[in-house]
Amino acid sequence: MTARLEVIVGPMFSGKTERLIARLHRAQYARKRVRILKPAHDTRTQGSIAARAVNADGSVEVTATLSALMVRNAADFARHLADGAFDVLAVDEAQFFPLDEPMCDSLGWFGRAIRGLLREKARSDLRIIVAGLDMDFTEQPFGPIPGLLAMADHVEKLTGVCMVCGSDDGYISHRIIPGAEQLVVGDAGEYQVRCRACYESVAAVPLRAKRAG
Ligand SMILES: [Zn+2]
Repeated sequence: MTARLEVIVGPMFSGKTERLIARLHRAQYARKRVRILKPAHDTRTQGSIAARAVNADGSVEVTATLSALMVRNAADFARHLADGAFDVLAVDEAQFFPLDEPMCDSLGWFGRAIRGLLREKARSDLRIIVAGLDMDFTEQPFGPIPGLLAMADHVEKLTGVCMVCGSDDGYISHRIIPGAEQLVVGDAGEYQVRCRACYESVAAVPLRAKRAG
């Protein structure tokens, strides 16, 4: 019996939240107590995690949801977990939890909190499942996700459908609106999943540009 960390990554519309929700349904079947959190920064759906799919006409459809507690910062996170009454902790869209400024490690407060939980509950069957974007639109590793991937016991890396050539190798969420901010919450109108061959480099965009919100 040991605590474990599972990480699900991939570009937008690759089915990360769908996989997360499927794992949580199974856990609930097994009568596990599930707690679901997500960053308050994600304004698309408040109070829930939502699996979304793009229709043929480009519209976005929510295909499944589960209620979630919204987290603004480390204090919120600690408060939501203070009772310890959960067997499975799920966090969606974890790329939105920022690293420190100036950056002091590859985890940020969120990654350090996850590491702390795994240490504290090492001799338990706690299961932590984190989902998020592994890269931002400039091909930079996104927030605490790379650090969490390194720590994970199990990683599932998904691809999406390239919106240019239709291949199954979509690996990045290419931003199709102007702007340098890394943390722009967007949808199919702002981002487009692309494969490596169809990705247009935006390397000219300065790194760690001013954060939105
Ligand atoms: Zn392509």
